[in-house]
Amino acid sequence: MSGTDDNIIDFAHERRRRGPRFNGGLMQVLEVSRDLVCLCRDSVIMAINGAGVRLLGAGSSEALRGRRLAEFILPEYGHVLDMFLSGRTSEDQPVATRLLGMDQTIRDVELQVFRAREIAPDATVVVGRIVSRALPGEGDAQAVDYAPPPFFILADRAMNLVCHVIDGTVRYLNAAGAAILGVAGAGTLVGHPLAALFHPDQARRIAPGGLAALTQEGREVPMRLMRRDGDTVNALVRFSRVPSRHRMEVMIEARDLGADGEALTALLQQAETLEMRVVQRTRELAEQRALAEERKLAADAARRFAEDLIDTMPSPIWYKDARGRFETTNRAFREMFGDDPARMAERMPDEDAATDATLLSGDGAPTVFEASLSAPDGGRREVQVSKSAYLDTEGRPVGVIGMIADITERKAMERELLRLATTDPLTGALNRRQLLAMAESELARAVRHEKLLSVIMCDIDHFKRINDACGHAIGDEALKAAAAACRLALRDHDVFGRLGGEEFAILLPETGLQGAVEVAERLRARLAGLCLSPPGHPPLGLTASFGVASRGSADDDVNALLGRADAALYRAKAAGRDRVERE
Ligand code: GH3
Ligand code: MG
Ligand code: MG
Repeated sequence: MSGTDDNIIDFAHERRRRGPRFNGGLMQVLEVSRDLVCLCRDSVIMAINGAGVRLLGAGSSEALRGRRLAEFILPEYGHVLDMFLSGRTSEDQPVATRLLGMDQTIRDVELQVFRAREIAPDATVVVGRIVSRALPGEGDAQAVDYAPPPFFILADRAMNLVCHVIDGTVRYLNAAGAAILGVAGAGTLVGHPLAALFHPDQARRIAPGGLAALTQEGREVPMRLMRRDGDTVNALVRFSRVPSRHRMEVMIEARDLGADGEALTALLQQAETLEMRVVQRTRELAEQRALAEERKLAADAARRFAEDLIDTMPSPIWYKDARGRFETTNRAFREMFGDDPARMAERMPDEDAATDATLLSGDGAPTVFEASLSAPDGGRREVQVSKSAYLDTEGRPVGVIGMIADITERKAMERELLRLATTDPLTGALNRRQLLAMAESELARAVRHEKLLSVIMCDIDHFKRINDACGHAIGDEALKAAAAACRLALRDHDVFGRLGGEEFAILLPETGLQGAVEVAERLRARLAGLCLSPPGHPPLGLTASFGVASRGSADDDVNALLGRADAALYRAKAAGRDRVERE
């Protein structure tokens, strides 16, 4: 070494000589060196001189600071650096290696590592110098003399098979490789095709296409090698592509699995099985996801169906949550109560809030009540509201489902039926059965509250004659007119009924005998004043006779009371008709 090269050696010698006084400040001095000088800590570049910046193809030392020196060493030389940094390599042995610079240029260098414990326990100083600027054989495709790159010093000492292959031909095999394959010397296989190393069943994998794939694996792959004696060697093989412009240049490193081979192969197979299980599991999960998706679609469809269904129902339907918010409503509901959720509650029947509270308090029993609502058309509707609590999976009420049935028509019909059942169709007065039933209840009420109650019996005089003179139809008209006249002369709570034929009875609650006689007199006068004008007949008048009776202290029997009124009526008839008699 001479010139600046001496500086490097001086640097190393200086370090030895000066011991602990050596420090990183020397980097400034080393800027003059043509060789790479780099201070690393824990293999990270802390400082690097200008020659080092150029050698690593960087623009500045800043670009390199903090990066790992190993990044610049071609992968197949990685173990070289491991040796450096683990201290297995002494500074006395420069190690050949190959760097790939940031400028993508490959440079063969010899690296020398000095541990620098004076600086820090993990500090190393790396010194490197270029040994060749061109790759072996590069630019000289015809070259027949194969010069193994200097790093083979390491390969020769390696325990694993190391093989350098250019275009499918073995160019170098290390001693360990020769031993593993059972060939006499490392040179034996040089010049042979790569296939000579492998078991025939691996042929496809090491054919050019397969080889390219293997170099991209980036990990060791289990493969079978074949010894010269025909035995199989299970090995883990790593293929590394060596950057090369013209050739397929590959470094192969194979680790003999030896006696553990079987077990390892089994392990690998297990891993494969595991991988298959992962694939299987992944497929299962995908199927589950698909199923879940399918279920979700089905649930959506079911929900839409339910919504459509409740929309088609003519009855208003709703669901309110526990806070009384309308969560779901159907079309009929919105037609009746409007679209504004804030106003829906206002328009609900008064009983709604209280029954909601009862249902949500957990009683559980559905509730039904009738109510009257103002309809959107301004009219009133009679409705039956049915509600039940909506329970969660644990049976707690979390909302209220309600439905409204419009019973306006039904109620009208019921009323009509009731009217038909209780009134006399000709006169509209209560019929005999209803009158007697009312007489029972009025009498019971009067007894209970110790109130007065009177009854008037009325029979039209000589009615037979009207029928006879004018016909039955005009007789009917006369009956209707008489009944209407009576009703007009009565109070709302008086009960007017037709006992049969031309006989009527009137119940007068809270009325004493004297009051009842006065009412009977009024009725008598009204009827006597009636003047009917049946077509084709002379004007027609009528009179009636009245018998009046009042509840006495002993009276708790309707028949007795009516009987006494009837007796009085009989006397009125007997006394000349058109008059009132009291009991
Ligand atoms: P009196 O003064 O004694 O009561 O004489 P009256 O003719 O009214 O008595 P009677 O009981 O003898 O006759 C009642 C008549 O009333 C007989 C019947 O034809 C008639 N009548 C009963 N029901 C009806 C009815 O619904 N329509 C018509 N047109 N006539 C009826
Ligand atoms: Mg009669
Ligand atoms: Mg009569």
